Amino acid sequence: MASQAKISLSDLLDRNKEYSKSHKPFPFYTKELLAGLKRTLIVTCMDPRVIPEKFSNFEANKVPVIRCAGGRVKYAIHDILSLNTIVAIDEIVVIHHVDCGVMQVTDEAFQAEAKKRSESEAAKLDFEGMHIADLHESVKSDVAWLRNSPLIKSDTAVKGAIFDIVSGKLEVVES
Ligand SMILES: [Zn+2]
Repeated sequence: MASQAKISLSDLLDRNKEYSKSHKPFPFYTKELLAGLKRTLIVTCMDPRVIPEKFSNFEANKVPVIRCAGGRVKYAIHDILSLNTIVAIDEIVVIHHVDCGVMQVTDEAFQAEAKKRSESEAAKLDFEGMHIADLHESVKSDVAWLRNSPLIKSDTAVKGAIFDIVSGKLEVVES
């Protein structure tokens, strides 16, 4: 069985000491540089097995990635808009994945967990549509949600895919 050992902050610092020895400085974002950028944005799950920089093999400074539970776009909208305030986004790719944790939990269970901590704060949260029953349907639903959102510029291309944690392959979901 794979090790489930926790990686603590001191482990991260030790690993960072090694990493920083070969780190190449990233360029600073100047206003001029930002103004000229047209970007593809990836929205995907926060699952540690789902790392777009690895499975699509691009450098960390090339593509912005928003990672949230399930990669459900409704919950990423603040981040999408924050990014869009700074740079132009001309394409958004939604990537859900095989064996996602949100497939095992109902919307009601997410709400109940929040209620355990605070009834009043939980009432302000919206978990409707967090659960994924079918990956093709969840990707199509999130692509449609973005395409129909008045908060997303109408000329933004929105596409969807599924990442298979077993094969390592991406499958395009047409919609
Ligand atoms: Zn997931």
